[in-house]
Amino acid sequence: MTLHSLPSLESRYRVTGHPQLRVTILDVGLACCALEVGAAITAGLLVPQESIDTESDGFVVSVLLISGTVTDALAPGIIRAWATLEEPRLAVSFGACANTGGPYWDAPTVTKGIDQLIPISVYIPGCPPRPEALVAGLVRLSQPSVVTHSDPSGESR
Ligand code: SF4
Repeated sequence: MTLHSLPSLESRYRVTGHPQLRVTILDVGLACCALEVGAAITAGLLVPQESIDTESDGFVVSVLLISGTVTDALAPGIIRAWATLEEPRLAVSFGACANTGGPYWDAPTVTKGIDQLIPISVYIPGCPPRPEALVAGLVRLSQPSVVTHSDPSGESR
């Protein structure tokens, strides 16, 4: 895998059971956790949409979803993906590897937490987390208590 071939896919979704929440997800799937994101879709927890109506009421957000093991070699690609994401945008770290390096925390080339690269608003624990945990994490994004950050350019989310 190279910096220019991050396995990312941007799609729009309705979140089952949460009609007010509409998300565009740029999914950077790097390892086994990415399968759980796919499971959330095949199980109908996330329903792909042709488009998102940004005019109607509700919470609309672009999400950079990091699922899997991040290596230092991939860092520039992830930072670039975050920079190109449409506002309003938030980032979600899905699984132990993205959160902290997980089982590979002591490998010299593994990034010890994606929050060293980009501001993370929700951390989802697990190795791997269940698909339902992804939905719970996305719902948390719309809550006032969600952690907010300033990005390296000094702008708040
Ligand atoms: S947290 Fe566990 S399941 Fe997820 S990518 Fe790492 S090793 Fe795989």
